[in-house]
Amino acid sequence: MLNVHNLTGGYQHPIVKDVSFEVKPGQILGILGPNGSGKSTLLKMVSGLLSSSQGTVEIDGKPIQDYRPKELARKMAVLPQLPPQSFGMTVKEAVSLGRYPHQQGLFSSWKTADEEAVMEAMQITQVVPYALQEITTLSGGEQQRVFVAQALAQQAELLLLDEPTNHLDIAHQKQLLDTLKTHVQMHQTAVVIVFHDINLASLYCDHLLLLEKGRVSAYGEPHQV
Ligand code: ATP
Ligand code: MG
Repeated sequence: MLNVHNLTGGYQHPIVKDVSFEVKPGQILGILGPNGSGKSTLLKMVSGLLSSSQGTVEIDGKPIQDYRPKELARKMAVLPQLPPQSFGMTVKEAVSLGRYPHQQGLFSSWKTADEEAVMEAMQITQVVPYALQEITTLSGGEQQRVFVAQALAQQAELLLLDEPTNHLDIAHQKQLLDTLKTHVQMHQTAVVIVFHDINLASLYCDHLLLLEKGRVSAYGEPHQV
């Protein structure tokens, strides 16, 4: 269970202003808004990569700053908007490791995923045919699916995905979101996804949150937003 309450913060100036929402296990929240509205900044604050100036982020009733970094990193899996460059690893190695050897911070605490979780994540993202190929030899959309698989294989109770359908064609977007939805309901994962397409988001999300210049302009079930 994720609770975000009156969250404000950013860089030199506040970007995200007074944002509140909650995500229950098995639910998907979609975050939408124009370029620069603060979606990625909000996700960074929720994941603890960026500290907030006001407000709270709680996972299972405990503020994120009260978790030990390793414990926090294992509670959540995060897909950043711009995944880091990956050299010299096969798809399966990367999904198993959940990170790249040179990565620091949050990702360095990710655990090596178990075989079953790796296979399930690779099936959901349809990257099984490329399992033994080096990531850098794949197309943009194929690489994006590997990055999603890395996050999924962590089997975290909270999944934060910044534009996971980036570079994917419509058929792959739908296939990924369909199987992801089944997966998170089965595992009772709480999920936050940044989207650009409100029609697509409405099909898969339990709730939508619209950001406008860092503030919530609408929040509710897709038919209410
Ligand atoms: P997009 O749809 O393009 O991904 P977004 O809603 O995710 O946009 P953010 O990346 O959260 O937007 O950026 C919000 C604002 O914060 C922008 O005006 C941006 O210039 C600023 N910003 C983002 N990252 C930094 C940073 N590292 N330092 C300073 N300002 C930043
Ligand atoms: Mg962004």
